[in-house]
Amino acid sequence: MQRRNILVVGAGPVGAVAALACARLGHRVVLLEAQQRIDDSPRASTTQPPTLEILAGLGLIEEYLRVGLVSRTFQFWDRGTLTRIAEFDFERLRGETDFPFVVQTEQHKLANMAIARLGDASVFFGFKVIELRQDEKGVSVRCENGEEFHADYVIGADGGRSTVRKLLGIEFEGFTWPERFLVITTKFDFAAALGCCFRNYMADPDEWTNLFKVAGDDLKGRWRAVYNTRKDETDEEALSEASVRARLSRIYVPESQRDYLHLNLYNVHQRVARHFRKGRVFLCGDAAHVNNPIGGLGLNSGIHEAWDLASLLDKVIKGEATEEILDTYEARRRPLNIEYVQEQTVANKKRLEEREPAQRAKRFQELREMADDPARHKAFLMKASLLESTRRAIRT
Ligand SMILES: Cc1cc2nc3c(=O)[nH]c(=O)nc-3n(C[C@H](O)[C@H](O)[C@H](O)COP(=O)(O)OP(=O)(O)OC[C@H]3O[C@@H](n4cnc5c(N)ncnc54)[C@H](O)[C@@H]3O)c2cc1C
Repeated sequence: MQRRNILVVGAGPVGAVAALACARLGHRVVLLEAQQRIDDSPRASTTQPPTLEILAGLGLIEEYLRVGLVSRTFQFWDRGTLTRIAEFDFERLRGETDFPFVVQTEQHKLANMAIARLGDASVFFGFKVIELRQDEKGVSVRCENGEEFHADYVIGADGGRSTVRKLLGIEFEGFTWPERFLVITTKFDFAAALGCCFRNYMADPDEWTNLFKVAGDDLKGRWRAVYNTRKDETDEEALSEASVRARLSRIYVPESQRDYLHLNLYNVHQRVARHFRKGRVFLCGDAAHVNNPIGGLGLNSGIHEAWDLASLLDKVIKGEATEEILDTYEARRRPLNIEYVQEQTVANKKRLEEREPAQRAKRFQELREMADDPARHKAFLMKASLLESTRRAIRT
């Protein structure tokens, strides 16, 4: 079998973007995916400005905008009273980025879009990697179906349960939240009913809700309502018709319109791999770190890593830099994930579920004051959009 420069394990959005970025730099790439097709369950959709800059660099931005929804603002709400607390406007980032907005595009669309540009010769579906060997010359990978591949470098982008990470013996440090997150997909129009925008974070001490609009595959629009489950709630109970309809009732949906399109229940973790690299093998995306989805940061950070890693590998393969430069990948990316993604997503969750009334009122007041103060408003968005971490990455 032909030897490749770079082999990518996992054709999720991060692996697909990593493969495309490497191919665009002129490298022979192979992308191996365990499943027969791209998973289209409702996960990431919020794409932050620095990620849009990368997609523009890859020539994907026109299609990405066409199949998604542009969202300039996001809002915080008090769910108990269904009142808006504060609104943040990405227009304040004009001058910092060419994309002062987020785009709500479902992650399977991104994976498919990137794969379509790779060409059939480079992508293998139904190829589950189960074995990996490396020496100073390269890496050999064996799949469950017996096929073998050889490459100079391997990018493990095979998700939170990463086989590559396990084969490398790298610890996944952190914790799992006791509650799970339930995603209800519905056609009910929350913007018309409540006057909310396309991204809304609704705080409540017992049960918060995050509400997002996405385009859907038919581009007709649908909403995802994300809830925490109770710690003692069984899967059966959370997914039951009665409890789903009750949950929809608590965010205003009238009885006659409580039908839904899909339900998904997720375990939620905060974990970071102890190392992002071992020899010629690198971890990227959820294989390297997982976090709760509040704030829309996990996939975004994975794409930033894929872009960064492609450029570092490019320099080494083309002889423009020595292998030492590859050490910067973990040295730069691991602390950025901890500081910007793990810390912010944990803080975002706490903000939504604060139980103590005085503290809750204080958090609401802080949000109002931050939204009203132009400098603090912009500083908050620089961090929340990962623009600040992107600037830091360039300097380190
Ligand atoms: C409800 C929810 C909402 C979210 N919202 C957002 C958001 O708005 N913004 C955001 O940035 N993030 C969000 N996230 C997080 C985001 O979904 C993940 O960060 C993202 O899926 C990571 O992509 P990935 O490509 O690293 O991994 P994955 O999407 O998990 O893809 C990994 C791929 O590897 C394949 N694979 C696994 N093992 C092997 C193997 N041994 N061999 C070959 N292939 C293999 C899998 O089949 C899969 O296709 C959300 C997550 C959830 C659950």
